[in-house]
Amino acid sequence: MAIKRTAISYYGLGYVEHAERDFAEMLEHGCSTVILAVTEFDFDFWRPNIPKIVDKAHQMGLKVLIDPWGIGKYFGGEQVSLFLQNNIENRQVSAFTGEKLPHACFNTNSFRDYFQRFCLNLAAETDADGFFWDEPHYGFPKAYASITGGAGDDWSCRCPVCMKKFYDYYGYEMPKIMNDDVKQFRWREALFILSDTSRKLKELKAKLEITCCVHATMNNYYVTEQRGYDNWDMVASCPYFDVFSTTIISWELPFHFFENITARTVAAAKKYGKESERWLMGYYKQPADFALIDKVVDLYDSMGVDRLASWTYRGGYGTVLAPPDALKLWDSIGKNYKRVLKK
Ligand SMILES: [Zn+2]
Repeated sequence: MAIKRTAISYYGLGYVEHAERDFAEMLEHGCSTVILAVTEFDFDFWRPNIPKIVDKAHQMGLKVLIDPWGIGKYFGGEQVSLFLQNNIENRQVSAFTGEKLPHACFNTNSFRDYFQRFCLNLAAETDADGFFWDEPHYGFPKAYASITGGAGDDWSCRCPVCMKKFYDYYGYEMPKIMNDDVKQFRWREALFILSDTSRKLKELKAKLEITCCVHATMNNYYVTEQRGYDNWDMVASCPYFDVFSTTIISWELPFHFFENITARTVAAAKKYGKESERWLMGYYKQPADFALIDKVVDLYDSMGVDRLASWTYRGGYGTVLAPPDALKLWDSIGKNYKRVLKK
């Protein structure tokens, strides 16, 4: 068995004594790592308790990765964004219509500063083992190659900051039709905020490990998602990332899709000396036959995946994104976690 770590995400944190009970349940489910989804509201409001929750997880034997969940609606996640509430500028802009979008533009100094302060403060104030970059993306476009669906030709970001940066570099106005220069520009700028923040985190605390988790898409000759992180070579080669991770695949997709994504994830990680991570859908949808979970876990293990992760604790039980048998899904993932770790 190749798998060394098994992670589960956890949100809604606040009280240490409540988290303690939940951590005990995670350990019973074979989890070795908790991915703490820290929202902008948590950081703004619950800040005194975050370091205590990290310490409690450590005392109980769990590794802790901090996930700046949904921050600026730049990372994936359902949470709301204080940055967007408090800033009417520094938003991504539609290339086709010029309208401002409900996503922070991560190429602006305003959001880059905000994001770095968020992460560096959490790194300084807590004893977390690392950070988890959770599905970073431009607002547009996405395609059917993604589980999130919705093909579109419009793209972002064509805000004044991006347009000026593009002009300064390429010497002509940023076009409205996405050409190769725009693709290169978007990849390069998208990587900068994560690379720069990861470097500063490691300068602050060398032990911090960084996982970069990008959307699990086909990215072939015909279909790419173009959300800024679909050039896996570029992402996996970043010297400040330790783990290259690709996100959840719906249980409803063909098994071959799992094989394809996993083979490319492991290959990209190995090529650049990183660990690989694959995800299990532990919320929203459950497989028609729960034996599929065993089969997918065996596939990941046989293909050399180093780490497993699942969203989320208790299968999202009690939320709008819970599948019909959320607790059974959580138990099935736990059974598999224990099996691969030989507990
Ligand atoms: Zn922009």
